[in-house]
Amino acid sequence: MTTQPIPKTGENFTAADLGEFSQLHQYVFEHYKKKVSLEGKIFLKQLLDLTSAEISLNTLPAKASIPFYHKHKLNEEIYIFVRGSGEFQVDGQVFAVSEGTVVRVAPDGERCIRNLSDEGLSYIVIQSKVNSQLDYTIDDGLGVPKQVSWEDKQRI
Ligand code: ZN
Repeated sequence: MTTQPIPKTGENFTAADLGEFSQLHQYVFEHYKKKVSLEGKIFLKQLLDLTSAEISLNTLPAKASIPFYHKHKLNEEIYIFVRGSGEFQVDGQVFAVSEGTVVRVAPDGERCIRNLSDEGLSYIVIQSKVNSQLDYTIDDGLGVPKQVSWEDKQRI
């Protein structure tokens, strides 16, 4: 497995540069239970100290399929496709996916993805507990009464 980048941190943030989606094959996820490895998959929870969701960046190699179905106990998943084209399968139903496709799968959905293109199929997966979003995002945001400035700030 490629060494993960060292994140930049501050009191209220963690930031890391994982490189381009086309280069994600440098990361290999080893599933400790299934004893299977997935090239081009990196989880962000540990890297960024996420506390509310698990997120992964993924690039499935050309013409490849994920070699197993899976589902979840408590978490729904949101898939955001950013590059390439392929097919998504949930509970025996199949639909096309490509850049711009977004998919939500309930915990019980038995899911799989395959890449039909000659380039990597790149996507982001956000995993969070079903029914845990208690308020709409716009209502959670708070304006900060300060003039925006980019000069004379600390560069890290
Ligand atoms: Zn999953």
